[in-house]
Amino acid sequence: MEIIEKAPAKINLGLDVLYKRADGYHELEMVMSSVDLADRLSFERLSADQIVIESNKAFLPIDHRNNVYQAAALIKKRYDITEGIKITINKNIPVAAGLGGGSTDCAATLRGLNRLWNLGLSMKEMIDIGMHVGTDVPYCLYGTTSFIAGKGEIVKVLEPMPPSWVILVKPRMSVSTRKIFQQVDMARITHPSMKNLADAILKQDYQAMLEHMGNSLEDVTVAKYPVIQQIKTRMLKYGADVALMSGSGPTVFALCQKQSRAQRIVNGVRGFCDEVYMVRTLN
Ligand code: ATP
Repeated sequence: MEIIEKAPAKINLGLDVLYKRADGYHELEMVMSSVDLADRLSFERLSADQIVIESNKAFLPIDHRNNVYQAAALIKKRYDITEGIKITINKNIPVAAGLGGGSTDCAATLRGLNRLWNLGLSMKEMIDIGMHVGTDVPYCLYGTTSFIAGKGEIVKVLEPMPPSWVILVKPRMSVSTRKIFQQVDMARITHPSMKNLADAILKQDYQAMLEHMGNSLEDVTVAKYPVIQQIKTRMLKYGADVALMSGSGPTVFALCQKQSRAQRIVNGVRGFCDEVYMVRTLN
């Protein structure tokens, strides 16, 4: 028997770096939502006690460095499972792009193995395991518009974000989240209010949501890669309601309500960047 799980990408409608903690990590507040651009994972039992990962992208690690492998290894150990597993990742989400690809694959693995092995795990138990793999995993387990705080374990589900077209543009370079955080200067970054953003979404007020969207890390990544600003400017010129970097970048996304306008934005950025996706919000 083979089972399938979809693993959707996330976007940051907002990200605020609150302060740097004594242990060197940055305390964040975020608002995330998921979009209809997804990896597809399939799970098959193996009689030999091993974890086999296959993927359609040769550059993805298929050993313990893969988040999917880590999730499977943690579940096998914690629940004493001696059966093996083959997991095939069909990757569509750009990697190291600010779209949470590794975290959503991990969340899909926890859901998939919970089903395949009839573990009866609660959301809390899956979050507890997922936290060991990545801070965005708890959000990805919910997968619906949420306010996120702490080390990612505090997830407050909001109303679904107002339905929109989402145009995603991934410039060529990959960005290391760790390196961007190293360059954060707390005296200079902006602080979009995640509380106001969450309130706007709870009220389903699209205009107020646009006004409060923002990302503390955007100026930091733009300083290194000015092309991000150029993409934003182009998207706004072609009629985007808002254009913002997701996570630590480099993917930029735009929102708009009309399909014809979304298509115009896509046409405006194609030729400038080759990785462009036009998708819907997912709720
Ligand atoms: P975030 O927005 O959460 O910072 P990201 O989208 O920037 O994440 P990922 O796509 O998750 O970044 O990739 C980050 C790193 O994780 C890459 O170097 C990649 O090799 C590694 N990785 C491990 N497992 C996976 C996976 N299943 N899918 C994608 N990347 C993975």
